[in-house]
Amino acid sequence: MHILILGAGIAGAACALTLQRQGHRITVLERQQVPDTMGGGVVLWPNASRVLEQMGLLAAVAAKGGTPVQMRWLDRHGELLNALDIGQLDHAMGQASHAILRRDLQAILLDQLQELGVEVQYGRQVVSLSHAADQQARVHLLDGQVLQADLILGAEGRMRSSARQFVLGADHPPRYQGFLNWVGITQIPADQPPLFDAMAIHDYWGQGLRFGIVPVSSHSFYWAGAQTALTPPQSAPPDLQTHLLDLFGGWPDPVRRVVQHSQPQAIRQIAIHDHDPLDCWHRSNVLLIGDAAHAALPTSGQGACQALEDAYHLAQCLQDNDLQTALPAFTARRLAKTRQITLQARAAAQALLNTDEHACRQRDERARHADTRHIVAEMARGWGSDLPLSA
Ligand SMILES: Cc1cc2nc3c(=O)[nH]c(=O)nc-3n(C[C@H](O)[C@H](O)[C@H](O)COP(=O)(O)OP(=O)(O)OC[C@H]3O[C@@H](n4cnc5c(N)ncnc54)[C@H](O)[C@@H]3O)c2cc1C
Repeated sequence: MHILILGAGIAGAACALTLQRQGHRITVLERQQVPDTMGGGVVLWPNASRVLEQMGLLAAVAAKGGTPVQMRWLDRHGELLNALDIGQLDHAMGQASHAILRRDLQAILLDQLQELGVEVQYGRQVVSLSHAADQQARVHLLDGQVLQADLILGAEGRMRSSARQFVLGADHPPRYQGFLNWVGITQIPADQPPLFDAMAIHDYWGQGLRFGIVPVSSHSFYWAGAQTALTPPQSAPPDLQTHLLDLFGGWPDPVRRVVQHSQPQAIRQIAIHDHDPLDCWHRSNVLLIGDAAHAALPTSGQGACQALEDAYHLAQCLQDNDLQTALPAFTARRLAKTRQITLQARAAAQALLNTDEHACRQRDERARHADTRHIVAEMARGWGSDLPLSA
C-alpha cells in the first residue's frame, strides 16, 4: 500500500517508521525546508519508552536523554510542596522515563527514516485536501501539485491541519485555553555549580504564573514558563529573555538562571490551544494522527507520548484489518485514552494557572498533603492502558 504522510513531526515520523517496517511504501511531506530544530524538550514517560523499544530506538533516546528521578512541586518562593518518585512510576510501568530535547528526538526518528530509505520531502506544504469522484482524497500542495495514495495520514500538528479540515470541516478549530507558554533550552556553563542536587523535574507554581524546568543532564535543561492571558496577544514582546526576567524576577534562583543562560533566539512564545475530544478522526482514506487528531495541553505531559502510541496502534490495526476497517478500529482503540488525557490536562491547567489567591493557596495545601504513591498508581494505570507493559 502507498501511504502519504502529511507532516514529519513526531507522529508523522514515528508512523512512517512503523508502517515502512510493515512493508508499505511511504512518502512523507514536510512544509519546512529543513528539519525543525526549534522548541524545548519532552519527557517520554514509560508508555512512550515501550513504543520506542518496539521501534528499536530506545537505546538511542536513552543515550541522548536524561533519566528524571523525581517531580518536585514548589511554590513561587521555592518552598517544596511535595515530590513524586518517578522511579516508582517507572517500576510500576516496567520502563524508564526519559527527558530529551525535541530536536534530538526528531533527529533520532529522521535518521532512522533515512537509514530505512523512507522518502521525506522537505519544502512541500499541503494547502488543502479534496474529495474526488472515486471517493479517494486528493492532497493539494502549495506548488500546485496534486497527490493521491491508498492511505493519507494527517500529521500536521494542532493548529492548521488541512487533513483535519477535510475530515471534520471548519467547526472544530483548536481551542485557545487562556494561557501563554514560553519554551527554551539552557546550557549552564560547566564551571558553574549544577542547578539542582538531583535529576529532578522542578515545577514552580505561582498565581496565574508557572515555571517548569526539566534537566536533560546536570548542566542542560529545557524549560517552560506560563502565564494566564484571557486573549492570545497578536505578537510576542521583541526581547523575550528580558520580558521573562522581568516577569519571573522575584522567583527562585534556578528560574532566573535558566532564563539568563538560555539561547535568546531559541526562546519561543506559544498561545496554548488544544482540541475538544471528538468521536471520529477519519473520512474516506484520510486518517488524523498525533496532535492533528487529539492535541492535549502541555499540562498533560503526554502529547509526544501519544503521538508515538499512535504509531504503535496504527501499525497493529493495519496488520489485523483491511484498510476500510483499520481506520475505525484505530479510532476506537485510541479515543478513550486520548479523551481522558485531554480532559485531565484541562483540569490541571485550571488549577496550575489559577489567578485567584485563595484558590492557589488551597491548591498548594492539597499538593502538600497529596498521597503521591496513589498519584503514581493512577498515572501508571492511565498512561499504561492499551499497551503491553510488563511491570
Ligand atoms: C510548550 C509545550 C510543551 C510540551 N511538552 C511536552 C512533554 O513534556 N511531553 C510530551 O509528550 N509532549 C509535550 N508537548 C506536546 C508535543 O510536543 C506534541 O504533542 C507533539 O509534538 C505532537 O506531534 P505531532 O507530530 O502530532 O505534531 P508536531 O510535532 O507539531 O508536527 C507537525 C509537523 O507537521 C508539519 N506541518 C504542519 N503543517 C503542514 C503542512 N501544511 N504541510 C506539510 N507539513 C506541515 C510541521 O512543520 C511539523 O513538522 C508539549 C507541547 C508544547 C506546546
